[in-house]
Amino acid sequence: MNIIILGPPGAGKGTQAQHLVETRNMVQLSTGDMLRAARTSGTEMGKIVADVMDRGQLVTDEIVIGLIREKLEEGSEGGFIFDGFPRTLAQADALEALLNESGNSLDRVVSLDVDDEVLVQRVVNRAKEAVAAGKEARADDNAESMRTRLAEYYKKTSPLLGYYYAKGNLKSIDGLAPIEQVQASLAAALDA
Ligand code: AMP
Repeated sequence: MNIIILGPPGAGKGTQAQHLVETRNMVQLSTGDMLRAARTSGTEMGKIVADVMDRGQLVTDEIVIGLIREKLEEGSEGGFIFDGFPRTLAQADALEALLNESGNSLDRVVSLDVDDEVLVQRVVNRAKEAVAAGKEARADDNAESMRTRLAEYYKKTSPLLGYYYAKGNLKSIDGLAPIEQVQASLAAALDA
């Protein structure tokens, strides 16, 4: 089964994806994680994306589609969880084409519904908690960058909700419920 977890930054996509990796033998494809790995590698691409990411803007479709293409070639028995991808309609079209090429399909798109003000607070807290634990906070986990990330989400990513709704594979769940409850709603959405 191949699924997309859709939702604004800070909605808990990564946390939920991680749970599915542990319980369903699925492979998580997080373009955010791939880009963070690329930026520490010191490559030319890494330098270009670092600046864009820190400002909270989207990196080019070409770069993220290339990253996803490579990972899809590795295959996954339990299927893929797309986390933070696609973020634009062009990426959604590319994903469909890539899955079709390999004889696969997109089975579900689950949207985590959340309140924006709670999100901004969550992301700021995530940064504070990282610092308190002696870890480095994500450079884009601050209120200013978060506002840009939200604006990018509404401008470029939220149209995907209508797109997948029209295709008939969208399920929306309450992303602000306690983590275990979100896990249960997500499982129900996948098994329905
Ligand atoms: P995330 O970890 O998913 O919140 O992503 C962190 C940042 O990486 C985003 O704010 C973007 O700058 C970049 N990014 C991640 N995924 C994508 C994508 N699919 N398309 C464009 N930019 C992305």
